[in-house]
Amino acid sequence: MRIPVIVGNWKMNTTVTEAEKLVHEMLVPLNNISRVEKVLCPPFISLPVVKNLLQGSDIKLGAQNMYFETKGAYTGEISPLMLSELCEFVILGHSERRYYFGESDEMVNKKIKAALENKLKPIFCIGERLEENESGRTEKVISRQLKKALAGIEPTHDIVIAYEPVWAIGTGRAANGKQAAATIKFIRDFVAKLWNKNIARDLRILYGGSVTSGNIAEFVSLLEIDGALVGGASLKAGEFVSIVSQTATIKKNTTSKR
Ligand code: PEP
Repeated sequence: MRIPVIVGNWKMNTTVTEAEKLVHEMLVPLNNISRVEKVLCPPFISLPVVKNLLQGSDIKLGAQNMYFETKGAYTGEISPLMLSELCEFVILGHSERRYYFGESDEMVNKKIKAALENKLKPIFCIGERLEENESGRTEKVISRQLKKALAGIEPTHDIVIAYEPVWAIGTGRAANGKQAAATIKFIRDFVAKLWNKNIARDLRILYGGSVTSGNIAEFVSLLEIDGALVGGASLKAGEFVSIVSQTATIKKNTTSKR
């Protein structure tokens, strides 16, 4: 059975002081929700502070990016080895990294390999742009992203895939639940062919793109969708707690009906 997961991507928001405040606001209510894996991804500089605050809770920590080399003359970069002391997860291949920082599928592939070698669990993001969606190329784009970024990687449950249509990220225009579930089914079938059926069946695949407390139910009530990668709404404690809590209730009901 796949344990649902909700990831909060704080992006380039919160100073260290604001990060502490946000964790204080959500810590107790989040910790009281079981049956959902909860992951917070603050900016790099807040990771140590947030790690300390989360001690004794079941809330996990993730980073938003990393370089693929372990150490060396790469000014300004953060390595998987450094992250492995602090967190369990790392977001890789986010569309904002691909768009603003020119990350290619090949680079994402190197990062996924390096993360796994350093015992970090990648939250690997894929998704099509608006023009690709409108011209019916969604499956083609996603197939390319999966094939290139997973090339040479041994089948593993330690990857979480996040399907994030680029046009839905930060726009307030979320995908429709059924369409997202259909694309996620396509992703699962693709992984079954690339790796194998058992891994694909157990792999967690999330939806991301303008998720809020008002629309989370539309996504997590569908069996294909194992949770969400949440950006903007993860910066409001009440919103994020509600997203996690609705997911716990809905997934409990849907799995018990299977
Ligand atoms: C994201 O950061 O991956 C994301 C989906 O952002 P938002 O929820 O703000 O659209």
